[in-house]
Amino acid sequence: MLDRLTTRARQKKWSPTLTDTCVLCNNDSETIEHLFFKCYHARRVWQVLSNLAGIPFMDSWQRLLMWMGKWIQRKSLYWTFIKLIWSAAIYHVRMKRNNRIHQQVFRTEEAICEQVQFDVKHRILGFAKLNRHLYLSP
Ligand SMILES: [Zn+2]
Repeated sequence: MLDRLTTRARQKKWSPTLTDTCVLCNNDSETIEHLFFKCYHARRVWQVLSNLAGIPFMDSWQRLLMWMGKWIQRKSLYWTFIKLIWSAAIYHVRMKRNNRIHQQVFRTEEAICEQVQFDVKHRILGFAKLNRHLYLSP
């Protein structure tokens, strides 16, 4: 999934005159690995969310996939919770990058973590409402 996202490093392959520097930190080539795991801004988001969720800090896509492989067959509330956190975090880091490029808006890592928590909370509440509706429906 992530390897299909447009990054500046990918764009530079098609248009060599474009810059591939990460728009968030201006320190490295904007690859998937950098944008979601190596960039200071993403690392800060993952550190906060990992601490909140009680999961190991993932510092690479490869490490995340290996860790997910241990859990992927499980259908527990905890695993659903973890997947919601990851998907929301990836979405908001991506939005942070896009907002920076297209709207010159800069959101802090703390704001992203709060938004991820808000999204996860409301997704879980949505599941609870759906379950209540399914069990209470005639
Ligand atoms: Zn960066």
